Amino acid sequence: MASNNVAQFAEELKMPAHLLLKQLQAAGVQKSDTNDALSELDKARLLDHLRKSHGSAESEQRKITLTRRQTSEIKQSDPTGKARTIQVEVRKKRVFVKREEPGAEVQNGTDQDDVASTLARCEEQARLEVETLVQRARELRKRQECLERQETAQRVAQAKAVDKQLSEQQQRNYAVEQQVNQSTSIDVHSTIEQAAARESAKKAADTARIAADKARIEQKAIHRRREVAEAEARAIREMIAKPHKTMVKAPEPLKPVAPVQITEAKGTLHKPTQPVSGAKKPVLVPIAAPSNQKKKIPGKSGWQDDAAKRRGMKTRGDSSGGVDRGWRGSPPNRGKHQNAHTNFQVPNEPITREVHVPETISVADLAHKIAIKASEVIKVMMRLGQMVTINQVLDQETAIIIVEELGHHAVAAKLDDPEALLIKGESTDIEALPRPPVVTVMGHVDHGKTSLLDYIRTSKVAASESGGITQHIGAYHVETPHGTITFLDTPGHEAFAAMRARGAKSTDIVILVVAADDGVMPQTKEAIAHAKAAGVALVVAINKIDKPNANLDRVKQELVSAGVVPEEYGGDAPFLEVSAKTGQGIDELLEHVLLQAEILELTAPIAASAKSLVLESKLDKGKGPVATILVRSGTLFRGDVVLAGSAYGRVRAMTDELGKPAKSAGPSIPVEIQGLSEVPNAGEEVIVLPDERKAREIALFRQGKFRDVKLAKKQAANLESKLEQMGAGEVQNLSLLVKADVQGSQEALVSSLKKLSTNEVRIQIVYSAVGSISETDVNLATASKAVIIGFNTRADFQARKLAESNGVDLRYYSIIYDAIDEVKSAMSGMLSPEKREVVIGMLEVRQVFKVPKVGTIAGCMVTDGIVKRTAFIRVLRTNIVIHAGELDSLKRFKDDIKEVKQGFECGVSLKNFSDILEGDQFEVFEITEVARII
Ligand code: GDP
Repeated sequence: MASNNVAQFAEELKMPAHLLLKQLQAAGVQKSDTNDALSELDKARLLDHLRKSHGSAESEQRKITLTRRQTSEIKQSDPTGKARTIQVEVRKKRVFVKREEPGAEVQNGTDQDDVASTLARCEEQARLEVETLVQRARELRKRQECLERQETAQRVAQAKAVDKQLSEQQQRNYAVEQQVNQSTSIDVHSTIEQAAARESAKKAADTARIAADKARIEQKAIHRRREVAEAEARAIREMIAKPHKTMVKAPEPLKPVAPVQITEAKGTLHKPTQPVSGAKKPVLVPIAAPSNQKKKIPGKSGWQDDAAKRRGMKTRGDSSGGVDRGWRGSPPNRGKHQNAHTNFQVPNEPITREVHVPETISVADLAHKIAIKASEVIKVMMRLGQMVTINQVLDQETAIIIVEELGHHAVAAKLDDPEALLIKGESTDIEALPRPPVVTVMGHVDHGKTSLLDYIRTSKVAASESGGITQHIGAYHVETPHGTITFLDTPGHEAFAAMRARGAKSTDIVILVVAADDGVMPQTKEAIAHAKAAGVALVVAINKIDKPNANLDRVKQELVSAGVVPEEYGGDAPFLEVSAKTGQGIDELLEHVLLQAEILELTAPIAASAKSLVLESKLDKGKGPVATILVRSGTLFRGDVVLAGSAYGRVRAMTDELGKPAKSAGPSIPVEIQGLSEVPNAGEEVIVLPDERKAREIALFRQGKFRDVKLAKKQAANLESKLEQMGAGEVQNLSLLVKADVQGSQEALVSSLKKLSTNEVRIQIVYSAVGSISETDVNLATASKAVIIGFNTRADFQARKLAESNGVDLRYYSIIYDAIDEVKSAMSGMLSPEKREVVIGMLEVRQVFKVPKVGTIAGCMVTDGIVKRTAFIRVLRTNIVIHAGELDSLKRFKDDIKEVKQGFECGVSLKNFSDILEGDQFEVFEITEVARII
């Protein structure tokens, strides 16, 4: 629409009206307001003005350039059949030039509508051209598709031609095969030809199959036909190959026999109620049941059956006959087994088993438990560095290692252990009540332990003791105004340690006795160490304060430096000054002991079945096995059935520490019991069982177990010691056989003796027991070349005689320390003497003479000490040892001489050494042997 005023025109041109107004004014069109009317002439003048003012060329204004770009995609498949996408981009550039038309400027130049229409026309033209292009592209695509179709058609035609050829070939083959069928012999040439033809046909068929579907369908038909032909040809070939007889009797009815026979025959064959089928060909009966039914007809069972029988006999050797017999004799679950066999699956991952390992197990049993061969277990043991045999007993730890090594899970077994029953019977709901403390008195020899205990129980034990040393484990309880205290009278620290080693904690409080006039001694320190290791409360009794030379401060200081700090110095050990002689301070000591017990809150159930600890045991001639036990919890009654380690029995008699009969014993009360089956070991736990049968069962189990454990340990020890011996070179063994009067002394002595073992001399206790020395002991000692040690026990007459005749060393002791000292000295005698070098002189080489046939002789001066003919020489050159060896000859003025002293000259020649120079020094030394002690 033509604009009528300035504002409208400005809007049309999309520019501000006031700007247009200014431009109009500049062009000479007098318009002052935007609402002023605007004629076409005014517009032309403005255009003219603008053209002029911009100075642009006329020609340029007359030209319009149009550029266009169009993209499209064409999808097409290439000759190989792959789909390709082609990008088509059409670019178009058109320049329209406005032709010069005279007067047009006047007519059209001012007409804007005409310009616009021209532009629209141009656009339309461009669009049409693009459309034509797209059309052409489409046509091109169509043509290509058409070409492709033609190509496919050609290919199909070719395939058809091949197919035709093929079918012709097939027909020819068929004809050849037909010929073969008719002839009675096989022509080798024709077979080859046939095979060649078949092969070529196959190839052709393959190509045809790839070419087209149609051809494939036909090919299949041909194949089918060919297969039929081949089958026929095969049948003919077989017929020719087989002897005439079999050829005549066609094998068709027999063919299906085999499979049916396996699955169905067995049931019917075992039934004697089917005589017809059994008598006839039994194998065939169940197979061709419907057809063979006819044969059961009685009228038909004449010569035919006989013939069948004969055939059966004749073919007994063949496979079918064999199978038949096999089935007859096979067990009825044969089929089942076969099924199981077919269902069996080989495990495809290792099976992890849970193996319950008892305390001891033989290699064979372990292998059986893991379900492997014993050799596998032996192999593992070898890998671990131990040689074992199949019957060797392994301990639990080793067995567990093996089980884990083999990738299984080991469980320390308690399944077959009757002791497990004991834990079940335990009742925990019984109220625990305070119990008296159990106190052990420890300290150095002669510091007054026995005197102290003696004073406390006001009896005179010390006077009857051998050597003044407490030897037997004893126990007694003391009633004080403040409460009851149980005292254990031990033979020293060894028994305490031995007991503790068994895991038996018998003591609650230790009274450490230190003599005020002697102070801290080695055994005092030992006692402190034991008490600390056991975690037992300590009460220090500084004894003999009545003595004039008592030095309390010194003792206290020594104790502090030994690690026992008195309460007054801020420690936790109460220090009490006592005198076992005068009884001074004893009451305070007991008070403190009870105070300490209160702090420890010692409790135990009373109304429960008793649990005790064997303190000491012996074999009494009249009473049999006797054990001193300390009740730890519950109450023990006379007549209870008890089990102590591998010993068991009914408590026949029970006496207290004073020898009085007792009916019962509560917690922390020591008693002596009789009625056990054997002597139990000190430290063994005593438990009460409901019946004797169970006790015997467990005891026997433990005896067996104990034997096995001992065996296992012995084997291990043997191996170990052998290995050690190999490594250490010479190891001397001192074998001992220890017999003692009571269990406690025996334990203490044995453990002390064992501790004497050194790297060079090993103490081996071949046997230790309680009782007198018998003939058997002497025999054992003879066999093991052992020395017999009798502690408070003697050899009987026969044993003594035997020992004399066998040359067995018999030694009696009544004091532990004497025994230990003597064994120590015996060991020292067994030590190889030590070799020491002693330098005895020094020579200086002044001149060297080389004498033919004699060697090098050094003219020396003895600068220090002496030189002996038997001595050794060390050659020093600038203080460096260059040779050490024997002296060959020592001369003085051509005379051989034994020794030359300091300040004299001599001639020296050395064995195997002649490289002597002037100025060398000879160090003269002797080797002396020194006896060693332990
Ligand atoms: P044990 O080896 O530690 O048991 O010591 P004993 O109890 O056998 O005592 C050794 C010696 O010390 C004995 O001769 C006692 O008479 C003596 N004795 C013990 N206690 C005292 C004491 O308090 N005062 C004095 N003067 N002598 C004592």
